[in-house]
Amino acid sequence: MANKIVIFDIEIEVIKKNIKNMHLTVLPPDGKVRITAPASIKDDTIQSFAIDKITWIKKQIGKFENHQRQTKREYVTGESHYVWGRRHRLELRHNYSNKVEIEGDNLILTVRKDSTTQQRENAMIEWYRKQLKEKLPELTEKWEKVIGIKADTFRVKNMLTKWGTCNIRDKRIWINLQLAKKPINCLEYVIVHELVHLLEKSHNSVFVDYMNKFLPDWRMTKNELNNFTMDRYL
Ligand SMILES: [Zn+2]
Repeated sequence: MANKIVIFDIEIEVIKKNIKNMHLTVLPPDGKVRITAPASIKDDTIQSFAIDKITWIKKQIGKFENHQRQTKREYVTGESHYVWGRRHRLELRHNYSNKVEIEGDNLILTVRKDSTTQQRENAMIEWYRKQLKEKLPELTEKWEKVIGIKADTFRVKNMLTKWGTCNIRDKRIWINLQLAKKPINCLEYVIVHELVHLLEKSHNSVFVDYMNKFLPDWRMTKNELNNFTMDRYL
């Protein structure tokens, strides 16, 4: 009997059967996680087992992802694409106008039948940008209030080396488009980090004090973010 549990946004397939010990595997090609467990074992036990192993699980998934990233995406059915930290299976459909929507675990990309890879990628980029821009006002307002400082503008662009940057003189903050693929706490961390730069320009102890004050678990999110590699494409 197969079941599903979700631990820290990672979906794990649980299969109970007549065996003695629990087994955890991360499967190729896309890093699907599976636990096989003795039929008699309680769900709580499986949960804590998965939580104990979460670092290892993430590392294994990361290996598959890095492998996938080395090949350029084609935006065709079956590819894995992430939205706010969740993995979705891409499904390509054809129609006369472009559209991207989420249907359960699937990300439906509708484009014209004769579309090129570049056109499909552009449709996705546009959609990711829209997702990020929809989230930004609420989060920036929230954190500007907490921190007590306002940026002049927040802008979104695809960056290959930084999750965010801040032009202190112009009070202009740039947010990496790729954050729309990561868990939402990553976007929040970047917003806070860049806003704090308006109070302190370097990463010194004053800066760290501000971060501790405003976002006490910022180090965890920073590590999480550092474990993600930025896409060379998109
Ligand atoms: Zn910084």
